[in-house]
Amino acid sequence: MDWCPRCDQGWVVRCRVRERADVIKVCEECDTVWLEGQAVSTAVYTDLDPYLSGFGKEPLWSNLVPLERGAQR
Ligand SMILES: [Zn+2]
Repeated sequence: MDWCPRCDQGWVVRCRVRERADVIKVCEECDTVWLEGQAVSTAVYTDLDPYLSGFGKEPLWSNLVPLERGAQR
């Protein structure tokens, strides 16, 4: 599991988008999103809000299914 390089305050956990097959990595603290295959770095990233909005979903963790256990969830 990666430590978030953007906020330096949380773990980046792999999650699947609910009702979809898409797998992403999300920071538990700042909701930064890295797509599958993207390196966790500050060079390329997106955010949970625009990412889930693209699927017509609210930017909520309840729309994600964690595939590994982070510090808090
Ligand atoms: Zn973060």
